Amino acid sequence: MGDRRIGVYPGTFDPVTNGHMDIISRATRVVDHLVVGVAVNAGKEPLFSLAERVEMIEGQVSRMTNGDGTKIEVIPFSQLLMNFVGEVGAKVILRGLRAVSDFEYEFQMAAMNARLNDRVETVFLMASENHQFIASRFVKEVARLGGDIRSFVPKEIERMTVKKLRETGDLVIDEH
Ligand code: ADP
Repeated sequence: MGDRRIGVYPGTFDPVTNGHMDIISRATRVVDHLVVGVAVNAGKEPLFSLAERVEMIEGQVSRMTNGDGTKIEVIPFSQLLMNFVGEVGAKVILRGLRAVSDFEYEFQMAAMNARLNDRVETVFLMASENHQFIASRFVKEVARLGGDIRSFVPKEIERMTVKKLRETGDLVIDEH
């Protein structure tokens, strides 16, 4: 392994959005080996199961053109993030930061994590201008009410989200 820099990009990814994919692709310029850590996050009552979220990200990652050869792995985790980071041998946690809304939560979490292990750095990538307002939570809400989510998520994810909402009986207005 030598001095290969391993980074973890943790999240719930329920579902993965264009904003997440932008961070994944840009993170490959920062680290040599990127682990996308998919959190069980039962507290958030995700729409998609852990296995589904992992599979959805893997599908999108496999379509990415990753010219510089950074290795990308998608791994679920249910333990404390810092323990997961230690298990995969990472020295960096990557997070995306949308204007204003994410700051306080991310600031607190980074500070807590630094207290738990100060040899791991949290690095923030600013959300790209055209992805600033994309959030999984809103994507689900818009889809639920029959809105068009195609500019927020990849085509395949749109299809799966609508299908899932239909299956769970959550599609209030079915205009898809
Ligand atoms: P979590 O439950 O950990 O907040 P999310 O899946 O909501 O998980 O987000 C994972 C990470 O991706 C977080 O750092 C979040 O700020 C970031 N993120 C989410 N949406 C975007 C976006 N549109 N652009 C950039 N970063 C984003």
